[in-house]
Amino acid sequence: MTGITYPVMERFLTVQGEGAHAGRTAWFIRLGGCDVGCAWCDVKESWDVAAHPRVAITDLVQEAADSGAPICVITGGEPLMHDCAPLTSALREAGLRVHLETSGAHSLTGTWDWITLSPKKFKKALPDIFPLADELKIVVVNLHDFQWAEEHAAELRLDAVRLLQPEWDRREKVLPRILHYMREHPEWRLSLQTHKYIGLP
Ligand code: SF4
Repeated sequence: MTGITYPVMERFLTVQGEGAHAGRTAWFIRLGGCDVGCAWCDVKESWDVAAHPRVAITDLVQEAADSGAPICVITGGEPLMHDCAPLTSALREAGLRVHLETSGAHSLTGTWDWITLSPKKFKKALPDIFPLADELKIVVVNLHDFQWAEEHAAELRLDAVRLLQPEWDRREKVLPRILHYMREHPEWRLSLQTHKYIGLP
């Protein structure tokens, strides 16, 4: 395990802004590389895997443990472009809860305490991940996304959290539509990118 490295765009201590764990202190590791190609992606600089330095797993785990955060969130990019098994094992051995944020477009690797599945229209999520997802986060861009959200929610476990999140640049237009939809479909929860509202990364 000592020689294993991952391409890392950034790692930082923050507050998880989105989803069921919003408000919790978390150490984020943003892995480089994504082939999904969302038009509205706010981390396009993550896409080129070669643009990001490879960091040793031992350093990643030490930094995460030193941060004092109870949760380590592995995000991207698309983290499942990499074999996450060694990284999740090492982080869990260090006593951290390990959360994944993924589009589901690649096969699942790793052992996770929480899986956030955020499928994208630009590259389909693989079917195997749906029963394993703890929350489904649909980024809402337009009205058709509600139907798309329901199609994906039908594949989930019954206890999985269902989240509708306005795409950041369209949030003023989309938020009222989400709130209206939730009044008729109360099984859906609102997810806001609260870290952006308070100026955190
Ligand atoms: Fe960006 Fe995430 Fe879409 Fe990849 S999956 S293009 S990182 S929003």
